[in-house]
Amino acid sequence: LGKKTAVKPKPRFLRVNTLKIATKTVVEELSKIHMVHKDDMVPDLLVLPPGTDLHSHPLVTDGKVFLQGKASCMVAVTLCPKPGWKVIDACAAPGNKTVHLAALMNGEGSILACELNKERAKTLQHTVRRSGANNIKTVNGNFLDIDSNDPSYAEVRAILLDPSCSGSGISTERLDYLLPSHSRDDQDDASTSSRVMKLSAFQKKALSHALSCKSLPTPNILPSVERVVYSTCSIHQAENEDVVNSVLPLATSLGFELATPFPQWRRRGLPVFKGSEHLLRTDPEDGLEGFFIALFVRKTAGGGAGE
Ligand code: SAM
Repeated sequence: LGKKTAVKPKPRFLRVNTLKIATKTVVEELSKIHMVHKDDMVPDLLVLPPGTDLHSHPLVTDGKVFLQGKASCMVAVTLCPKPGWKVIDACAAPGNKTVHLAALMNGEGSILACELNKERAKTLQHTVRRSGANNIKTVNGNFLDIDSNDPSYAEVRAILLDPSCSGSGISTERLDYLLPSHSRDDQDDASTSSRVMKLSAFQKKALSHALSCKSLPTPNILPSVERVVYSTCSIHQAENEDVVNSVLPLATSLGFELATPFPQWRRRGLPVFKGSEHLLRTDPEDGLEGFFIALFVRKTAGGGAGE
């Protein structure tokens, strides 16, 4: 009792926006005054000592680098979109993962970035402008209203779903991930748990919607979505393993199976169902925020991270 687990001080991470600048150039520039090294798992991610403050550095203000945590960066890398693909970012604001997708695609192909909240959609547009990406279309609307069987979505190859969540894996200084009304301080356990259950219900709906994109057997049109990534910055099983487990029958019926993002990463899903070993969790004990990532791959498709 009373024994506390030691939590490592978190290093600062910087993602180089390769649409605007080469990683080598950023390393050369920053190593003049900081200890910098490249992350061993995520390409174009730089690691700096805890406490390094680069908020007002010109590289940041010019959109050449983004202050984005490693766990957050692992999400777009897991989706592994190829240059030229058509991709949907279903719940996109503030847009860190959207512009990361654009960089991974070398600005080629197209990204539809959907955001429900009007104010946050403006933030999304600002992030997109700052990134210099010109293959992103932002939409202020409800992802659940997207008719995924509309012919205009016929060629979507990949969907990133990072929906509203409790944010319970994020330290208090990073609460930008939450909707403005979300605050952990003024909530008792009962209201927290009822809110988590409401979020979980939405997350299940949104993930089912993403998996169903182009799933109706239309003659001569094969389902085109081959990769769906579901992520949260929550530590709650109800928003993570339970959401994935609940959609598994649907996913299987549509030809999807769980794949293993970053197989070298040791912390996997909580062992609450067969297959949870494919899931990925990050934790403050890893020196990271608490994130969760699940990757669905359609069996017939090949290639990419986590095969
Ligand atoms: N992926 C973002 C990033 O990395 O910058 C963070 C996304 S945040 C966790 C979830 C976002 O989904 C919020 O901005 C929220 O307003 C939005 N959202 C919630 N429900 C939505 C829906 N039904 N359709 C589209 N966006 C939605």
